[in-house]
Amino acid sequence: MKKTNSKIKAIGMISGGLDSALVVKIIKDLGVEVFGLHFTLPWNVGKHPKATDIADQLGVPLKIIFLEESFLKMIQSPKHGYGSAFNPCVDCRAFNLAAAKKYMEEIGAEFVFTGEVLGQRPMSQMKNSLRKVENDSGLVGRLLRPLSAKLLEPTIPEQEGKIDRNKLFSFSGRSRSELQQMGRDYSIVDYIPPGGGCLLTDKNFGNRLRDSFQHGYRDLNDIISLRWGKHFRLSPKFKAIVGRNDYENRKIIEHAHNDDFIFILADENPGPTIILRGENPDDKTRVMAALLVKKYSKFRNNETKVIFWQKKDPQNTQVLLPKPIAEKSLASFKI
Ligand code: SF4
Repeated sequence: MKKTNSKIKAIGMISGGLDSALVVKIIKDLGVEVFGLHFTLPWNVGKHPKATDIADQLGVPLKIIFLEESFLKMIQSPKHGYGSAFNPCVDCRAFNLAAAKKYMEEIGAEFVFTGEVLGQRPMSQMKNSLRKVENDSGLVGRLLRPLSAKLLEPTIPEQEGKIDRNKLFSFSGRSRSELQQMGRDYSIVDYIPPGGGCLLTDKNFGNRLRDSFQHGYRDLNDIISLRWGKHFRLSPKFKAIVGRNDYENRKIIEHAHNDDFIFILADENPGPTIILRGENPDDKTRVMAALLVKKYSKFRNNETKVIFWQKKDPQNTQVLLPKPIAEKSLASFKI
């Protein structure tokens, strides 16, 4: 009797990009019962993950894991170092795949698979890095990369004949055209573009995150707030966040702590909202925050009043009338 794969379960890592969607389709078409797994980075909490739409389209259940403190800890001292920004890609992959291994064992799945393509990314997808990820995650022999499988050592499910290696691929390098064509063939056209989406690869965001690690942060809200606005380290104890538009102004207030101070221009003049974070700011620090409000408004050279209040006490506003700004000195505080 012909051997059937219908009872085999596997965990498919779904990022929201094309490659991970393709491999879900490929492995599902081999008769494997696929369970999708997606990781949400701390600063992406609250955003609708594209992975959800892809899992729906491909008809697989999706488990979402929110990365929190342990992930932040890993970022601060990655065993394999960083890429060109603050992106510890090898450790990040291994961290997430270790969680996937746990899920695999919980539900009795046989392997985990990813959409990685050999040589597609300089840091995390070279042969050496793929091996490190496999070792560090504890998934030796149970981590299948269907798009490049024919260029890699056969995994246990391939050796056992549970996955037909002939039905897998030998993609390598950075070219995307064949993968995109495969996506169109499978009607997978709505996905996150390659390399789009991870703020750890953004140098500015990385600087802000480093600054939070150096000076301490209170909770995940502080980390989530790094997504919006311009950030200034006024002194080791105090930082200011400047909203760059209405949306950011609303978001930074929403994520402010109750004891943070909020600064805006007085008399309903349009301008940025500023959050001043840190305990008991002295007069000098308050004036600096007020100057930032002016600097990023169109009233920078006017004698314009700035009001501020503590978030938990919005009725109790205070007024400052800072002198026209000393731009250079403020710019030096930018993170
Ligand atoms: S790009 Fe970002 S999410 Fe992707 S592996 Fe690197 S650090 Fe992790």
